Amino acid sequence: MDRRPGPPSETVFPPAAGPDPSPAPSLSASTVRSGVPSGRARVPSPAGRPAARRGRIVWSLAAVSLAAVTAGAGVAAFTCGARCVAAVPGGTEIGRSIREWSADPPLGAADGVVPDGGRLSPFDAGQPAVANLDPELLRAVRRAAKDAAREGVGVFLTTGWRSRAYQRRLLDEAIAKYGSEREAARYVATPERSRHVTGHAVDIGPTDADDWLSRHGARYGLCQMFANEMWHFELATTPGGTCPEMRPDAAGG
Ligand SMILES: [Zn+2]
Repeated sequence: MDRRPGPPSETVFPPAAGPDPSPAPSLSASTVRSGVPSGRARVPSPAGRPAARRGRIVWSLAAVSLAAVTAGAGVAAFTCGARCVAAVPGGTEIGRSIREWSADPPLGAADGVVPDGGRLSPFDAGQPAVANLDPELLRAVRRAAKDAAREGVGVFLTTGWRSRAYQRRLLDEAIAKYGSEREAARYVATPERSRHVTGHAVDIGPTDADDWLSRHGARYGLCQMFANEMWHFELATTPGGTCPEMRPDAAGG
């Protein structure tokens, strides 16, 4: 089938927040907007002037609201971007609309973006985020997930393998959010250093799964690596071994 790229017109709101080039609304348009019957407004009478003024106020408020909405959406796309798709639980619609706003090329499952809902079973080998993981790490996560399930805890991936482009995007967003590359590095590694890009790290959720794995992960060789990321696990010891001491965050390592 011939799949053409979707038209940009799918965007819900007009993209630019620039000045409105259209002329000031006419009296009749204003009065229609302000709820005054147009037939009455067309009668030249002193009553027409306040109605027109009211109309202009309504138009001004509408313009300000639209500007605020477009500015807000732009900021959200800049600071959040594709990560929102993974980060907002059940937030498919939010993620989708933000993605449409982003000027960057879209990232998809082939980049390791976790699809709708932000959770992936470690047994879902059809997803690149799972399939591109280091096989030894994936085996360990699956073994842990099976045992956790017996105790009533569901272990899911919120992120597994990521493409360099995806990692770059996350880093750019973190730099925008935290103001500098140095500060951003506490939370997001560069594509060159990320263990997600090489397939040697998984982010686990939900919280009870993080908790379970932080207590039992060493049985499988899985260790929480950073004190500020209770969800990030790597194969860092032999099964039954001792995990290395956690670093405060991902910076400097
Ligand atoms: Zn991670």
